[in-house]
Amino acid sequence: MNATNPFRGLLSRLRDRRALPVLFALAFATACATTPPNEADRATETAETPEIAVAQASATDANTDRPIELGLPIDCDLGEDCFVLLYPDVDPSDGIRDSGCGGQTYDTHKGTDFAVASVAELDRGVNALAVADGTVLRLRDGVPDRRLRTAAEIDEIAAQGIECGNGIVIDHGDGWEGQYCHLKQGSVAVASGDRVRRGEPIGQIGVSGKTTFPHVHLTLSRNGEVIDPASGQPTANGCNQAGQSLWLDPEAQTYKQTGIISLGFADRPPTVDDLWDGVFDAPQIDTDAEVLLFWAHYYGVEAGDIEHYRLTDGAGNLITDYEQTIEANSINGLGYVGKRNTPNRPIVPGTWRGEYSLTRDGETIASKRIEFEVRPAR
Ligand SMILES: [Zn+2]
Repeated sequence: MNATNPFRGLLSRLRDRRALPVLFALAFATACATTPPNEADRATETAETPEIAVAQASATDANTDRPIELGLPIDCDLGEDCFVLLYPDVDPSDGIRDSGCGGQTYDTHKGTDFAVASVAELDRGVNALAVADGTVLRLRDGVPDRRLRTAAEIDEIAAQGIECGNGIVIDHGDGWEGQYCHLKQGSVAVASGDRVRRGEPIGQIGVSGKTTFPHVHLTLSRNGEVIDPASGQPTANGCNQAGQSLWLDPEAQTYKQTGIISLGFADRPPTVDDLWDGVFDAPQIDTDAEVLLFWAHYYGVEAGDIEHYRLTDGAGNLITDYEQTIEANSINGLGYVGKRNTPNRPIVPGTWRGEYSLTRDGETIASKRIEFEVRPAR
């Protein structure tokens, strides 16, 4: 099937051209905060009102061994319009291991990261939700939204001690605490001491603090010990714990290492930064474009996985049916195929169709298709 890509020459050239920027982006594609709102915030907000003390006392009186039940920290349809990109790192050494014993994490990452496909989606306002009933302990707002792209930018944020960005810490009772990070500047909708209910909006998803992709980070802890919501066990216990998922959402109960973040079309080779920024979320491309590319942004691939692209043009002709083997594990990355515009084989107007799938050990583990309208040149 590999031989059926008439565009292979351009494909490999484009791949060469993008190699550097993509590798660069990947190297920093996974940063996310692990530190809570800083001590200054804590100090000002620990002068708490009496209600908080009462709330905490009554929570502590409750049945101490009942596991907490968690709603999602993001208002979306998990698996459809949002996904988990990173899990807690449950490897106590320098190595990394996520909840499902895969590599969707980085060293010392404490939380679960619920992401959307691009920053552009945040413009419509995606709510962050309280995962359980509780009382707001402390918060921070006022950090600008800026998706980080380089190691220097990440270091700068870390030096300021604002990795969590705009964040909220909620006492969920019984010693449980949730820390929510990277909210949109000015969106924090609760105050210290406020009571919240599970599923209640507490702010909006943003890209503040140490983050290279649009998501909300949730660290769950109990009596100061970080707990993996996937197992209900301390992250220090390692992966694939026999425990019980604390998530109520059935989709969240299933560990999903690999998936498709988004598919789309572009008139130039996209970078991972372009895709996180939503540059090609709704491109206007017509028949005088130099090239037409069908791209896939994926996560959690492993060396040896096979990716398959199939592209048909506006007249229904097969442009390419192309497979290639993924060479290295990666947390997220992109690939594309496409067509150059030539007098003999022009880009035709109409509905183009792209199909993408990932196969592992002979089994399709993710697949998706998309249609795109190429307009006649004016
Ligand atoms: Zn995170």
